[in-house]
Amino acid sequence: MATMPTTDQAICIRISDYSETSQVLSLLGRDGGVLRVIAKGAKRPKSKSGGRVDLLAEGRLVYAPPRREGLGTLIEFAETVSHTQLRDDLPRLNAAMFMLELCGSLLAEHDPHPEVFDLLHHALDRLGQADASPPAVGAWFVYRMLRHVGLLGEMGRCADCGGELAARGVTFAGAAGGMLCRHCEPRDAEKYAVGPAALAGLAALTAAEAGRRTKLPDAQARAATALLVYHVEYQLGRRLKTARYVTGKP
Ligand SMILES: [Zn+2]
Repeated sequence: MATMPTTDQAICIRISDYSETSQVLSLLGRDGGVLRVIAKGAKRPKSKSGGRVDLLAEGRLVYAPPRREGLGTLIEFAETVSHTQLRDDLPRLNAAMFMLELCGSLLAEHDPHPEVFDLLHHALDRLGQADASPPAVGAWFVYRMLRHVGLLGEMGRCADCGGELAARGVTFAGAAGGMLCRHCEPRDAEKYAVGPAALAGLAALTAAEAGRRTKLPDAQARAATALLVYHVEYQLGRRLKTARYVTGKP
């Protein structure tokens, strides 16, 4: 029994070699969520599916869904946005790769998140504009992404006692999933010391989320991103490969 071809708007988030001539593409589909398809003959100069698909490329995807679990098959990918301007600029490319890795790490396959697709689409578009700050776009992306997947709790108050956060002595605890004031700070559990730059960055992101015009300087954006990356890595139980290029932390 053949499966019906499915059409989706999709962004290519990962490419891996499958054989000498074929590749496996991970794509974020607007309707279908993260899906993996085999692109047969993708490494040949001319293939039936329209040639190779590049990382970051967005387009109209036609594919045969997998029978059960596993790989679908690419039928056609008609590129509509290529983001070539990001490929020649390392800070922009690094921020873009960070966003792709977050999508591939935080979203389960075949679990639709159209709002995350739209977030990625707009963030990549913004990243290509000359006046955009790559650290600020990266910080906004990880903040909103965590919100969409339900991993971002209250960041403006102590997650334990609900008290206000002073400028000093604030920590983030992955186990609590939130910020802790100096009185509630865990004595021996894992924790991340939250400095003034990260607090200011988070306040700016929260203000932007509420629709207020706000400034997010690069140093604050990097510090807020580093804190949110700590949260993501705690949840995943592993490191993100691309995070250090965005946060500047080893
Ligand atoms: Zn507290």
